[in-house]
Amino acid sequence: MPLLELKDLTVSYGRIEAVRGISLTVEEGELVTLIGANGAGKTTTMRAVSGVRPLSRGSVWFDGQDIARVKAHDRVNLGIVQAPEGRGVFPGMTVLENLEMGCYSRTFPTRAAHDEMLEHVLELFPRLRERKDQLGGTLSGGEQQMVAIGRALMARPRLLLLDEPSMGLAPLVIQQIFRIISEINGEGTTILLVEQNAQQALSRSHRAYILETGEVIKTGAGKDLLADPAVKEAYLGVA
Ligand code: ATP
Repeated sequence: MPLLELKDLTVSYGRIEAVRGISLTVEEGELVTLIGANGAGKTTTMRAVSGVRPLSRGSVWFDGQDIARVKAHDRVNLGIVQAPEGRGVFPGMTVLENLEMGCYSRTFPTRAAHDEMLEHVLELFPRLRERKDQLGGTLSGGEQQMVAIGRALMARPRLLLLDEPSMGLAPLVIQQIFRIISEINGEGTTILLVEQNAQQALSRSHRAYILETGEVIKTGAGKDLLADPAVKEAYLGVA
């Protein structure tokens, strides 16, 4: 049984169907990426999974349960955690306070479990440890992205949703973020990723789905898609 399954998912904004009958699965332990041009429906799909956008047709299954009617905050409690779009770092809070906000809605059973996870996040992001008392608003873009991912980890995700974590970052920082995403996945966290950076995303994903105007047009192993001539031409800028 997949951890996440979307069946014939349709999501509309008014009369416009942004997502039109998408079906996809994410198995436990997988890193799965959605790629596609601007407006293809990637973010909308993520919103339907996190529950901030209602479905107009189809269903969303998580761990064998139909969650279409489960509210967004209850999905967090099930373990569906999204690192916020556009990072959403609280500018007036320190790095540490920002990380603590992650477990606000999904608390730890014990203080020790909390401390262990915080320590783990600071190990994953040594940069954040160095800057733990710095205000969120003064961090670089890359550091803010680290806070956003670290904060999501503090909510102990079973499924981590990442929407364009590389957006607006310099090439070296992008590589760093992708390395950490692979590491988090390697430790057993299932990840659904939306990315414009197809090269990095495909090379690190178990599988990927390519979206065009709200539909899945192709799916396969990340490495196979990376080698696919049509994918190369359309998404990797290679003719
Ligand atoms: P991008 O890579 O540019 O973020 P995307 O693949 O994530 O694109 P979506 O953001 O899901 O695409 O948008 C899909 C379609 O839905 C687009 O045509 C967009 O204009 C439309 N759309 C998105 N959000 C809204 C909204 N709040 N109201 C109306 N239309 C919307």
